[in-house]
Amino acid sequence: MNTLLFIIEIISFAIWGSIVWIFKLLTTSKKEKEKERLKNIEIQKEKMRKEKEYEQKLKFSLTCKRCGELAFPVNGTQSNYYCESCGNRFTSVKHPFN
Ligand SMILES: [Zn+2]
Repeated sequence: MNTLLFIIEIISFAIWGSIVWIFKLLTTSKKEKEKERLKNIEIQKEKMRKEKEYEQKLKFSLTCKRCGELAFPVNGTQSNYYCESCGNRFTSVKHPFN
C-alpha cells in the first residue's frame, strides 16, 4: 500500500510540475507579446514623427536654382538648403529647422 501512495504522490507531483511549467510558459509568451506590441507602437510613432518632419520640410522646401528639383532645409542651420538631386547647397530664407 505504501508503494501505491508513493506512486500517486510522484504522479501528482509531476502533474503539478507540468501545470506550473505550462503556466510560466504562457505568462512569459504574453510578456513577450506585450513587449513586441510596445516595440511596434514605438516604431509606428517614429515613422509618424519622420513623416511629419518630412511634411514640414516639404512645406519649407525651395526650388533648387541649379536643377529645378526640390531643395530641403538642413537641420541645425538657420537658412541652409540642400538639394538631393544635384548636391547643391545654398542659403536662402530662414526656416524653422535650426
Ligand atoms: Zn539641385
